[in-house]
Amino acid sequence: MKINENFLKIESSYLFSTVARKQREYQQAHPEADVIRLSIGDVTKPLAPVVIDAMHKAVDEMADEKTFRGYPPEYGYDFILDAILKHDYLDRGIELEKDEIFLSDGAKSDCGNIGDIFSVDNKIAVCDPVYPVYVDTNVMAGRSGDKNENGLWSNIIYMPCTAENHFTPDIPDEIPDVIYLCFPNNPTGAVATKQQLKKWVDFAVEHHSLILFDSAYEAFIVEDDIPKSIYEIDGAEKCAIEFRSFSKTAGFTGMRCGYTVVPKKLVFNGTSLNPLWARRQATKFNGVSYITQRAAEAVYTPEGQKQIKEILSYYQKNARVIYDGLKQAGFECYGGVNSPYVWLKTPDGYTSWEFFDELLEKCQVVGTPGSGFGPSGEGYFRLTSFGNAEKTVEAIERIKAAYKK
Ligand SMILES: *Cc1c(COP(=O)(O)O)cnc(C)c1O
Repeated sequence: MKINENFLKIESSYLFSTVARKQREYQQAHPEADVIRLSIGDVTKPLAPVVIDAMHKAVDEMADEKTFRGYPPEYGYDFILDAILKHDYLDRGIELEKDEIFLSDGAKSDCGNIGDIFSVDNKIAVCDPVYPVYVDTNVMAGRSGDKNENGLWSNIIYMPCTAENHFTPDIPDEIPDVIYLCFPNNPTGAVATKQQLKKWVDFAVEHHSLILFDSAYEAFIVEDDIPKSIYEIDGAEKCAIEFRSFSKTAGFTGMRCGYTVVPKKLVFNGTSLNPLWARRQATKFNGVSYITQRAAEAVYTPEGQKQIKEILSYYQKNARVIYDGLKQAGFECYGGVNSPYVWLKTPDGYTSWEFFDELLEKCQVVGTPGSGFGPSGEGYFRLTSFGNAEKTVEAIERIKAAYKK
């Protein structure tokens, strides 16, 4: 037996384990300190009451032979696919069909698994900094080449995203086969306008590249002119796959539900991608639990929409508090409007990790060093709005007290 040696190329990510270790060591040295974590990349509010009710009801159905359900349809029950199609697409003026939507256990799996349907010879492009899943899954598949001394992979095209380009990537010199885009972005909190996305769609159509669009944070978009879906852009149905998730939208990180859109018009070298993904999912995935699908359906009811908006606005207020407070303290910061993430520039002369240490030391606040998401994240720092509101206010007061001139 020979193993997949690509796995040996991947080092475990030190980012979150190092953050946790440094916090633990600080707490052990200062048992009295009230350390506040603004590093959380997970939701903390409980599920909406309508979601809980829908699950209770579904559990009762599963307890009765007359209403019990076994294996679900591979791509999702009609009731949830219809709700997604109507609410997320048709009502927003986007033409799609039900069999272009594939329900799944989340966007992380789909972003990682999608590579199954394209050749190992493709060259991918990613933003820098970036959500690590896109890169690591391509390393595992053998598409990355080797790592150089800067920690970059030789066969991956990196598109730096910094304050200079407003954290939206420029078209690279070399034409990629596959382009990963994520807006609103994790970690930078940046969004892309219609014109910016149009530029990418036109480029992909012209060069027969595939865009993989991660829209996991679309529910955080509050500004009218920011697209929630790549399919708001003309031509995207010919070049883009979209990933969505109930995780950040409705607090489903522990429930596991998302979906992927593969339009039938996506045709490369005469082959439509839609049946390939259908085949991949039917072979390697057996569907989302009935109870979870009923829970997701409840999110789309009028009451469900109202309840998730209240939860989202709780996080959005935290984001406001963080962003405004940092500005007052004199920091250059970004994001936080259509995103749960605030991305700040570390003070002159500080690396991301040096700022991490100082913030923990001076303010007992934990954030995430930008350099952990890629070399272009060096000199930046991520704070998240997923924490408790009072604690968030307290953390920002401490930062203002320490840094405001
Ligand atoms: C949180 C997140 C997701 C969602 O993943 P799930 O598997 O659906 O929980 C997807 N993409 C990015 C960039 C994320 O930060």
